[in-house]
Amino acid sequence: IVGGFLMTGRMLDMFRRPDDPPSYSKLLMIPVLGLMAFYIPRATAGPRLATASGGLLTQAAVALGAGGSIGLIIAARCAITDLPQLVAAFHSLVGLAATITSIAAYMSHPAATGAAHLGAAWFGVLIGAVTFTGSIVAFAKLQGLVPSKEVSLPGKNVWNSVALGASLYFGKMFFDFACVGAVGDAVGSLAYVAALGAFLGAHATLAVGGGDTPVVITVLNSSSGWALCAEGFVLGSQLLTVVGALIGASGAILSQIMCVAMNRSIVGVLLGIKGTLKPKGSNAKPGAAVDGAMLCDAERGECIVSDSETAAKDLFDAKTVLIVPGYGLAVSKAQYAMADLIKHLRDAGKEVIVAVHPVAGRMPGQLNVLLAEAGVPYDIVKEMEEIEGSEGKFDVSLVVGANDTVNPSAVMDPDSELAGMPVIQVWRSRKVLVLKRSLAGGYADVDNPLFFNENTNMVLGDAKATVDDMYSKLKNLG
Ligand code: NDP
Repeated sequence: IVGGFLMTGRMLDMFRRPDDPPSYSKLLMIPVLGLMAFYIPRATAGPRLATASGGLLTQAAVALGAGGSIGLIIAARCAITDLPQLVAAFHSLVGLAATITSIAAYMSHPAATGAAHLGAAWFGVLIGAVTFTGSIVAFAKLQGLVPSKEVSLPGKNVWNSVALGASLYFGKMFFDFACVGAVGDAVGSLAYVAALGAFLGAHATLAVGGGDTPVVITVLNSSSGWALCAEGFVLGSQLLTVVGALIGASGAILSQIMCVAMNRSIVGVLLGIKGTLKPKGSNAKPGAAVDGAMLCDAERGECIVSDSETAAKDLFDAKTVLIVPGYGLAVSKAQYAMADLIKHLRDAGKEVIVAVHPVAGRMPGQLNVLLAEAGVPYDIVKEMEEIEGSEGKFDVSLVVGANDTVNPSAVMDPDSELAGMPVIQVWRSRKVLVLKRSLAGGYADVDNPLFFNENTNMVLGDAKATVDDMYSKLKNLG
């Protein structure tokens, strides 16, 4: 909670400008404090806390203080670019807490054998374990500790179905044992459910291909909420139940928004089915037929390598420029250099638009936050849908550390891992400048034929260094 609040505050502060009107958001603490003033005396007077020993309350206070301090330190030290991993790691803790609490709550009140209570304990253990290991795998994928590509056992859906079926079976065993007061056997059944959930979470997340990872992260966000909700039922805590339902429902809505943005079906993503939906809108047209921008044969392995001086000249000659930032911009911290370049181009009378793909970077809105931090005007930053179909009107498309989100194989190759995902069709513009360090693939690790197009120039190097260099060369040109 403490880490999450600090991180949220840091991100919101990035959207603030010196000339923004004063904000009084701290006043929101008044209703929060009012609610606590109302709730805490009642909670402490209630059966659970009023009868709790002083030692127990001290333990709780120490645990809260220690956990809060650790969260505070981690969130204060975390670089904004590492935020996606941090979110995944925090989700795993919610899953772990739900699993342990559900088992512990049953063990401490084994006589409570109502169907709703036992059902919530089973569900809390299962979904908590799924969230725990799924989030750890998501963390490892985002941190680059395991490959972002799909990894799964042969016949993965059979394994998953067996694990799900077995967890239902052990849920029934848990119910039967609990009803006859066989506590040890009931806890044993829950342990099996936890192990099966842990397998399901890890296996299902590993089986999702790199390009679809954003959907899995929002699904895990949602499942962490439902785990909390189950925990609330088990502990008889309305607060946990309501907060859990809030997180679960908002995560589910975010997953749906992500799926629509990526033209995926949620079931398809979770079952690891590639290219589940047909291309839509302008993405239905193969790129080669558009505006004379021929897509060359990547197998030739040749591409045009340019330098920052030539790239600066290309920008100097252009009247309209489309900028597409991606994860590489965030890694190289090129946002301030980019803001200077954009200001210079606009001062020179050029039309500049920045197009942000919904899954650019490693978390929703990551590029928007960075661009806002650097002071890029909001009105020139557009969502992908806002510029969809108008890529052809730009003289130059400047791709800065983006890869999967501008990959033509998403619209051209039905067998590609990215097939069906809408991309920003930069290859339709007159010239494309791609700023990255090599010809390597992006997060989804899919080859990008864009690099081999005859209207693409590769400007290889660190994005910040290249943009800085282009900016100084551009200033020399006038
Ligand atoms: P990509 O991950 O596809 O590509 C980023 C590119 O940046 C790499 O190819 C890399 O190439 C380049 N790069 C890395 N470091 C630097 C540097 N210092 N300077 C210059 N270039 C650099 O990025 P996109 O933003 O286009 O796409 C995002 C991908 O991440 C999508 O596949 C998306 O599904 C996935 N994803 C998104 C999440 C989200 O919520 N937004 C969450 C999880 C995954 P090179 O090494 O050659 O420099």
